[in-house]
Amino acid sequence: MSIAENVGRVREQMADACAAAHRSMESMRLIAISKTHPVESVLEAVAAGLTEFGENRVEEAQQKIPATYPLLPTKLCWHMVGHIQSRKARDVVPLFDVIQSVDSSKLALRLDDLARAANRRLDVLLEVNVSGEESKFGFAASDWERDVAVRERITQVVQELATLPGLRIVGLMTMAPIVISMEEARPVFVSLAGLRAHLVDTLHVELPELSMGMTDDFPVAIQEGATMLRIGRAIFGERLVRPTDATG
Ligand SMILES: *Cc1c(COP(=O)(O)O)cnc(C)c1O
Repeated sequence: MSIAENVGRVREQMADACAAAHRSMESMRLIAISKTHPVESVLEAVAAGLTEFGENRVEEAQQKIPATYPLLPTKLCWHMVGHIQSRKARDVVPLFDVIQSVDSSKLALRLDDLARAANRRLDVLLEVNVSGEESKFGFAASDWERDVAVRERITQVVQELATLPGLRIVGLMTMAPIVISMEEARPVFVSLAGLRAHLVDTLHVELPELSMGMTDDFPVAIQEGATMLRIGRAIFGERLVRPTDATG
């Protein structure tokens, strides 16, 4: 299957899920996660109509993103979706339009400093760990519905970060655990959507974006209100192995 065919099939699946959920396709953005894939694959996806891309490694993005500039008439929208070490924050700011993986207050404060120094207001999403999986990055929010301490802590963190002038917190992002059936991911998406509603009600902030749903679970994420889908394999095929990362 070519990338164009893959994009066509993903769009069909999105349309089906949207119809079933009584949502419009315009209410969500498809972000093609191009990690491990070369610039040529990004160009093929652009030819198939995609404009938003995501990467999860700073070093890879530093090579790939600027390499697209001379090859395209318009700029793409690039999303950072991977964990950022503090010392790499400086490299991330000039490359990306949206940082989806703000997973600690320390990183948020660092990005705020850097954005202000660059005279920018950076669009960010707060990565939230609602599944409680220890291997996942993100602000701790598992069981926030029942655990008052967890709920108050995450609410206070968001309230504090919302005041930072260099950042515009546009929403929440989460990764569902790897599961056998996509139904098993649903509680994670329901929990993230519920947390967004709680924060909007309590803090009167605007959090329009819910970034959730990947290749194996995006139809369920659409049903539960996703506004950003982060899809890699269904568009680009299986990931190429990087020398530094045998697990992809
Ligand atoms: C790799 C990755 C994706 C895409 O995963 P697929 O299963 O290939 O669709 C989405 N989000 C993040 C944060 C990723 O690292």
